[in-house]
Amino acid sequence: MKKIYGNRPLLSTIENMTKNNHTVNSVIFFGEKGSGKKLIADYYANTLLCENPEDDKPCGICNSCRNFLAGNHPDVKYPETSGKLEGYSVDTVRNIISDAFIKPNNKTGRKIYIFRDCRNMDTRPQNMLLKIIEEPPEYAFFIFTAESKYEFLPTIISRCICFPTSPCSEEDTICALKENGFSENEITSAVECFHGNIGMCIDYIKNDRLGKYVDLTKRISDSIIRKDEYSLGHALCSAGSDRKNIFSVLSMFDKLMRDCAVLNKDKNAQTIGCCRESAERLSERITPCQAEKIHISIENAASAVRYNVSAPVALSALCAEISDII
Ligand SMILES: [Zn+2]
Repeated sequence: MKKIYGNRPLLSTIENMTKNNHTVNSVIFFGEKGSGKKLIADYYANTLLCENPEDDKPCGICNSCRNFLAGNHPDVKYPETSGKLEGYSVDTVRNIISDAFIKPNNKTGRKIYIFRDCRNMDTRPQNMLLKIIEEPPEYAFFIFTAESKYEFLPTIISRCICFPTSPCSEEDTICALKENGFSENEITSAVECFHGNIGMCIDYIKNDRLGKYVDLTKRISDSIIRKDEYSLGHALCSAGSDRKNIFSVLSMFDKLMRDCAVLNKDKNAQTIGCCRESAERLSERITPCQAEKIHISIENAASAVRYNVSAPVALSALCAEISDII
């Protein structure tokens, strides 16, 4: 299994749960994109399935571990998302529920369902899931990952144990990136933009897309500094119409506004966004109160896009609101 950096307290909790036989049948791992949720979900599954745990950790060599690590364990299922909003459909959930009543055939006698990246899930499939996680067969485990636990209905949240995942320290991230064979230059620029988020750092190095969004975020920031509404509108709309891409840009922009507000109060504060220099310049032009208002507008735009409002409409409205604020 891939080495997991950071999140040590969470990993220890998982190990203690299995050691003391306090395993939980329904779990939500939530945290920002790239913070290791999927790896940790797999680690929990692997820990549950290992036939001979060593020091409460999966041994990596038993039959079950080998099957799991090869991605072909018969009692581990990753349901697939479908549709434009990439949610889990009623049909998918129905199939999983019928499957969950078929007993597993492995030494640990457990069966695991890992629902990755839960978002935009309708109420109906969630209510169907609720029934099974309320009274699951003893051997069935349901693991969910999501950026926020509020992707789920309160009734689901109340029946799951929710664990937040957190980004690593920058030192750990540098170490992880070195072990992945990336060059010093690649590591420096990735960590400058994405700090302790290993997943995002790797994505940034491997994929031009994130680099473009970092540049776009800087352009948005420059437009606000110049109070240039036309250029701001143009920059925001350059995010395209793909929802995932728009969320990436809005999330980077939002972090920049957070940094701007923080730097306004303390010039030496630690930043979390993709460009400290832009945040510093913004903080000289924008008050923390304006930054807060822009943050609310960004959240509203993201929420509108999430609920299927056309992207150009939501982004144009965001542009107009920011122009009013500044
Ligand atoms: Zn094992």
